Amino acid sequence: MRPHHQAALALLALAAPSTVNAQCDRWQQRVRYDMAVELDPATHRFTGSATLGYANNSPDTLHELFFHLYFNAFRPGSEMDVRSRTIADPDPRVGDRIAALKPDEMGELRVERMMQNGKPVTLEHQGTVLRATLAQPLLPGRSTTLAYAFNGQVPVQIRRTGRDNAEGVAYSMSQWYPKLAEYDQRGWHAIPYVGREFHGVWGDINVQITLDSAYTIAATGVLQNPEQIGHGYPSKKPVKRPAGSKLTWRFMAKDVHDFAWAADKDYTHTVREMADGPVIHCFYKADPELEAVWKQLPEQMEKSFRFMNEHFGKYPWPQYSFVQGGDGGMEYPMLTLITGKRRIGSLVGVSVHESVHSWFYGVLASNEGRFAWMDEGMTEYASSKVMQHLYGGDGDPHASAIDGYLGLAASGKQEPPRVHADHFITNAAYGATAYSFGEMLVHQLSSVVGEKTLAQGLLRYYDACKFKHPEPIDLELALEKQSSMELDWYFDEWLNTTRALDYSIAEILQVGDSLRVTLKREGEMLMPVDFALLLRDGREQYFHVPLSLARGSKTAASDREAFVVLPSWQWTDPTYTFSVKGDITFVAAATLDPLQRTADKDRSNDAVVLPEGARGLARP
Ligand SMILES: [Zn+2]
Repeated sequence: MRPHHQAALALLALAAPSTVNAQCDRWQQRVRYDMAVELDPATHRFTGSATLGYANNSPDTLHELFFHLYFNAFRPGSEMDVRSRTIADPDPRVGDRIAALKPDEMGELRVERMMQNGKPVTLEHQGTVLRATLAQPLLPGRSTTLAYAFNGQVPVQIRRTGRDNAEGVAYSMSQWYPKLAEYDQRGWHAIPYVGREFHGVWGDINVQITLDSAYTIAATGVLQNPEQIGHGYPSKKPVKRPAGSKLTWRFMAKDVHDFAWAADKDYTHTVREMADGPVIHCFYKADPELEAVWKQLPEQMEKSFRFMNEHFGKYPWPQYSFVQGGDGGMEYPMLTLITGKRRIGSLVGVSVHESVHSWFYGVLASNEGRFAWMDEGMTEYASSKVMQHLYGGDGDPHASAIDGYLGLAASGKQEPPRVHADHFITNAAYGATAYSFGEMLVHQLSSVVGEKTLAQGLLRYYDACKFKHPEPIDLELALEKQSSMELDWYFDEWLNTTRALDYSIAEILQVGDSLRVTLKREGEMLMPVDFALLLRDGREQYFHVPLSLARGSKTAASDREAFVVLPSWQWTDPTYTFSVKGDITFVAAATLDPLQRTADKDRSNDAVVLPEGARGLARP
């Protein structure tokens, strides 16, 4: 390349504007963990040693690091305990169960003897957070290595992680190791654990787990020594081991931001190879009833992965595991823990949701605390499409999300979606905001930019932001580029306010040889408007009124139905009037948002039905 570098540079300079993604190009930290842990099933205690390589890609000198010690949440008096008992609508899975834990049932995680280049690091345990004051400051652009020991006790399973879950799975090991907190443009995110949402540093995680050889282990990462292990992994010959002997499992996970595992003596472990997709592993308790249901899962999940790869971007890791464990369903890189005693529809539903998190969490690792809707809401959006792909049906798969959001708005408990996930006043408002509002927010964009443009924009977002920590601005930019529209108004107002959307048809009249239609904005939220005339012969005519702030409109081929673009609605105007040539007696009805893709809070003023022979209709 060297002799031609000038020509190459010129080409690069030319190509830059169209190929460089302006979004998601922020600096981010990088970590590598090498951990060895041994768990004693007799005491449920574990000891570990770790070497952590940390690259400071920030422009800042770091004098301290923070780690999450999630297991310490499962102790009476912890922030999670108090929060779970004092919130207005407690999560029944937690309630006062933490307060009632006995010493041998509690969780514990401690770090000891942390060294940086042979010098001791000062450690300060603060509940679920560890402050580590470095022996030597870490300069911008430099890396450092920390070596430390850790130990802890696996709590009785309360929420997500722990031992002896309700279905008898011995160990559901998530949020179990000292996990480095993320440092980004907003500084440290040493968020204390009160029970929900995570954020981690991108990197590679190698874990050696030593455990009684009777246990089968499922984990994030790829097993490095399958031939020594057996337990459903391909091994040359069945290995006979004396009772009580130990086995060391070596897992390697590349480009992940967390590591979870589970272990049980009675796991059935199945493996399904998939062309053009990850190897699908299932781990469930050996039980004929469970087996009858779980053996149907891999085929459905293969269809799900294939659909997701095609429509939302390619799954990047070599394998994925569906693991019975936990207390419902929770996503981790390359693995999910789900409760397993379910009918097939429920098992597929939870498996689709959690594996779709591989895209919206696993690959697009938004800070879930700050942007829970980008995690749960976007996962729900894609999952709804997958479920329709698996089970058919021609209804709108996102209709229940709009209903869920409108229910929240009507409840009086709505808070701006930008509130941190841990700080919502009620669990109900958090849930409806993260899941229903989030799905609605993405789906509703189809009415703004068009369904096809939205789908292309989401692929563009995936490409630009994979293996990063996307924020709302990154989704906005991807969609702006795809649609050539300005979308600030949409993201600003929906994410930062609780304003309501409500447009109405105020009047429709025959004036000369034209129909004159007047629309009115009844709510505070601004949106472009889709409008349809339903003719008496059954035909439909679609119109689109762009919003002036968008500096453009969805284009002819961008949406499901063909439509006529009308002049923009100047955003300050409370009403909008337009005329179309025609005879009103041919019109049976007129309606706003005919495909019902917006969260309009009052549908009763969205449509008018014209009696036979009527010359017009005005809303009082
Ligand atoms: Zn989820």
